[in-house]
Amino acid sequence: MPESPILFAGSCALREEAKGSLTHCPYCGLQCPMELVTLPSGSQVFPGDPEWGLCRKGWTAAELLDRNDRLLTPWVRDHKRAKLRPASWGEALRKIAESLGKLRATYGLSAVGVFGGGSLTNEKAYLLGKFARVVLGTPHVDYNGRFCMSSAAAAITRSLGLDRGLPFPLEDIPQTEVILLAGANLAETMPPVMRYFQRQKERGGRWIVVDPRKTSLAEKADLHLAITPGTDAALAMGLVHLALREGWVDWEFVRERTEGLQELALVASQFWPERVESITGVPVFRLREAARWLGRAKTAMIFTARGAEQQAHGVENVLGYLNLALVLGKIGRPFCGFGTWTGQGNGQGARELGLKCDQLPGYRSIQDRKARQEIAALWGIPETALPREGLSAWELLDGIGTREGIRGLVVMGSNIAVSAPYSSRVIQALESLEFLLVVDFFLSETALLADVVLPAAQWAEEEGTMTNVEGRVVLRQKLKKPPPGVCTDLEILHQLARVLGWKEGFPSDPCEVWEEIRRATRGAPADYYGVTYERLRRGERLFWPCPQLGHPGKARLFLDRFETPTGKARFFPVRNFGPVEIPDSQYPLLLTTGRVGAHYQSGTQTRRTRELLEAEPEPFVEMHPATARSLGIPHGGWARIWTRRGEIRVRARWSRRILPHVLFVPFHWSGLGQANRLTNPALDPVSKMPEFKVCAAAVEPCSCPQEPESPDKQNCPEEGVTE
Ligand code: SF4
Repeated sequence: MPESPILFAGSCALREEAKGSLTHCPYCGLQCPMELVTLPSGSQVFPGDPEWGLCRKGWTAAELLDRNDRLLTPWVRDHKRAKLRPASWGEALRKIAESLGKLRATYGLSAVGVFGGGSLTNEKAYLLGKFARVVLGTPHVDYNGRFCMSSAAAAITRSLGLDRGLPFPLEDIPQTEVILLAGANLAETMPPVMRYFQRQKERGGRWIVVDPRKTSLAEKADLHLAITPGTDAALAMGLVHLALREGWVDWEFVRERTEGLQELALVASQFWPERVESITGVPVFRLREAARWLGRAKTAMIFTARGAEQQAHGVENVLGYLNLALVLGKIGRPFCGFGTWTGQGNGQGARELGLKCDQLPGYRSIQDRKARQEIAALWGIPETALPREGLSAWELLDGIGTREGIRGLVVMGSNIAVSAPYSSRVIQALESLEFLLVVDFFLSETALLADVVLPAAQWAEEEGTMTNVEGRVVLRQKLKKPPPGVCTDLEILHQLARVLGWKEGFPSDPCEVWEEIRRATRGAPADYYGVTYERLRRGERLFWPCPQLGHPGKARLFLDRFETPTGKARFFPVRNFGPVEIPDSQYPLLLTTGRVGAHYQSGTQTRRTRELLEAEPEPFVEMHPATARSLGIPHGGWARIWTRRGEIRVRARWSRRILPHVLFVPFHWSGLGQANRLTNPALDPVSKMPEFKVCAAAVEPCSCPQEPESPDKQNCPEEGVTE
């Protein structure tokens, strides 16, 4: 698979034709700066910083602003068997108020859930969380970031006391000697960030990449540890074992800045190299090499991403790598540290500002009495009226249709019919809801199942802030008006609150919402009080925490102390590892899912972008030629893959980049090639992260599939949406 190119503005003559305005990319957590210009041929983006560059997703982002299949009016369904039809805003809002009111009166406030997205701006995430808890009075609000980096967040909070994706700015990366990346394919998913890694390499640095596939990043690595999916915790503890045994421990650091080594050492003694090789498949000599490089280096950084995190032992996997960074003393000092790569544009900010079922704005626990009192006072409700912890993302979907469960759902900025695990069950659950409201800018697979769909503005048509992978706040400016009939998400929340009886407290102006966020987070761990639109407009680089107006924000965390009560980082012995499903005679292979460079998340946007669709038009299974040959599946031939939850049919791509007992399927598509029909919803007990990354599977050759009429197609509207 080719690496995604980084595209630079260079001498592009088109750019000179029109003066654009600065904003940020609508996609991933890197939030690359970009400029939007209007040319006679339509909107076009260019890199906001000519030195920086964009990946092909960013470069083509403007195409979606002008697409003619955008939603331009609300759509409603008169009854469950009816097709969606266009409606006025007044009719749609009346139907929403009536339906939600009926559900709440019949089943209670908890019968309605809210599902948000990690691409929503800080202002939208905050207001959606407030809407759920104040207007609907439901505890059940969560977001698709739960499926993204919740395991890393939980592990980092446990060990270091405060979770921020990267606790240092990207500029620090070139200064470190050795980098270990576990389950991250940045060369394909975030190409512009590779400039920092390249510079580190040019300075003599080395990369160790842990991945079951020889990805574009692993190909460039100095050492590739081709791990069996689901065994990261064992690998990390094996490296801790070697650090302890071979004398790579930084004893001064461990004594002064950590606690709990004794228990860790006891557990680590069980992870001797030969045992770790038998669990992970990584040869002993490579394990020793990795430990030696990390141990001997004066500085090192360790990163995880979804490969290690999206597992039912995701928290333990990340804790294993944190233990390694701590035992080596490669954290809490310059050019060292542990970080995780935020996938979605605002995965970080959305959870800090209250879109998780267990958190209030400012990254405070919803069980914390003081935090509850402060937020309730700000929101103008008694503390007793503020709901307590609700269901996490998968539990919320799984709770649909149960006796005490969810009967109505509000979805904003998420396409759960494609992105949630065990998606055939999710689709059935969504169909069984008594009322489903979806807010989106395209008729996504989830919107097709809705009773009401509201058309929302896109990234360049509204103002708002995002918190990027570094914990830095960036301002997305409004560069053009939404099309007639389309409202911003904030305007929609304002209207929904109004029809449900709340005349105040839900402003549609992002600046007004931001001012409330500043007050809501003041003094909290994720303190945004010192960040203002004025400062961002002046071009200040502001990281949270930023407690005062004159404060520069804290670009580097943990240099003096960790944010635990004692100020010391905590070791966590890791005992559990391995996939929930072990291969057997019925399901002899391991399936892992992931991303390709041309697509983003459930593909709602990128599958509508011509160049991206041409680059990757369809899903596929990557499999080792030896496995494919033994099963009679030719390169380019059709393969049927099935797990305990369902089956898909996709074309096979032979590749020596993958282990013979592993299959890889990207998850960006719906229909017969939808990878999440197969994935396991088993949850990590702490983070509630589903086991996206590994399950037992079987594969065989099959003929070219005839797509049966899917529930999605049956729900397609009769008219109005045109290509
Ligand atoms: Fe957009 Fe991420 Fe690509 Fe940058 S790397 S252009 S933020 S998708």
